[in-house]
Amino acid sequence: MRILPLIPLALLTTPAAAQTQPSPARLKADVEKLVSFGTRHTLSDPDHPTRGIGAARRWFAGELGRIGEACGGCIEVANVARTFTNDRAPKGVEIVDVLGFQPGRDPKRVVIVMGHIDSRVTDVMNATSDAPGANDDASGVALVLEAARILSREKFDATIVYAALSGEEQGLFGGTLLAETARERGWTVSAVLNNDIVGNTVGQDGRRVADRVRVFSEGIREVEPLPGQLARRADGGEDDGPSRALAKAVDGVAGKLPRGLDVFVVRRFDRFGRGGDHSPFLKLGYPAVRFSVGVENYDQQHQDLRSADGKVYGDTVDKMDFAYLAKVTAINVATLRRLATAPAAPASVTIGGALATDTSVKWAPVPGASGYRVHWRRADAQDWQQHVDVKDAQATIEGVIVDDTFVGVSALAADGTESLVTFGGRERR
Ligand SMILES: [Zn+2]
Repeated sequence: MRILPLIPLALLTTPAAAQTQPSPARLKADVEKLVSFGTRHTLSDPDHPTRGIGAARRWFAGELGRIGEACGGCIEVANVARTFTNDRAPKGVEIVDVLGFQPGRDPKRVVIVMGHIDSRVTDVMNATSDAPGANDDASGVALVLEAARILSREKFDATIVYAALSGEEQGLFGGTLLAETARERGWTVSAVLNNDIVGNTVGQDGRRVADRVRVFSEGIREVEPLPGQLARRADGGEDDGPSRALAKAVDGVAGKLPRGLDVFVVRRFDRFGRGGDHSPFLKLGYPAVRFSVGVENYDQQHQDLRSADGKVYGDTVDKMDFAYLAKVTAINVATLRRLATAPAAPASVTIGGALATDTSVKWAPVPGASGYRVHWRRADAQDWQQHVDVKDAQATIEGVIVDDTFVGVSALAADGTESLVTFGGRERR
């Protein structure tokens, strides 16, 4: 007599246990699915049922919809679209961003996690050749889906936006569309996590870098009006703009993850001379960072599939490292969880204490904050060194001389979860 029926292994783990950690197998399956659409070039046929960017977008929307059904409708799938025209889309092309909204208590405050679904080969205008785009950027899109699977089981204060953008390779169209959508709809954007090329560990020279991920951020806001920029420099705030504060928060979050990756906080907004879909967000003043692998392989980006001179070119699944991609996903998930749980960061922080032995701090109160954390550090250090928690929107740091000290303030949720840190400067009039 057979006592135990054969139960598939997947059913032996509870759904909750199965979805609390990013799964390399699920990430691989999603990247393979995205590659299966042949090309996802922005100018490819949007209506073909199985090939091209339209089919890929519909699959992504369906997948988000399934994740939403599994959490009782906690994710609403919606597209935003607009026609863009430039020299890489001379006849104009309808750009569609597929978005999943997981509403928080505050529908207007958002944290965004995104990747770009479009792909390309050597000729950026070639919309018909196979362009697998496994790493660039099916890796980022798969990460977004996996983050949704995990975070859709939880409730947050802020709304999470899961996004697959189009038109990155033709001119950052999808990033522009989503950033302008944020402005038009009056969202308070607490963080934008752009994931673009996040799934390989072997570089151009054969070197393997599997222990770190680069997080790119600007220091001073690109679009801060000149008087504000000058004042920020005068205060020594070049390393503490909102996007840099986000990168430092990511670093802190990653440092607490078991068997995680080191975050290489690159102090420029993107790779040298290059950009990505977070750029349009920076142009509108939103805190945004780019995640990318520790070492890139240029034979596996934007290449026709071919072999030449003993080299194999092309952005294919076999070159990827899904255990690594799962670790990058875990950092995104933990960062989103923190920033969607915490209140918004203080809108402004002012410090004083010139010609005195104490430093005084005050800031704009944050709706919904249960308290605040005042951070400070020596003015020759990059990371916060000391802090004190307070209830009211002001504090005095006794015995700390303002000339030698940088100060910042974060807002705290009831459970102590912390927002980004807002850097303190002189009062602006
Ligand atoms: Zn890319």
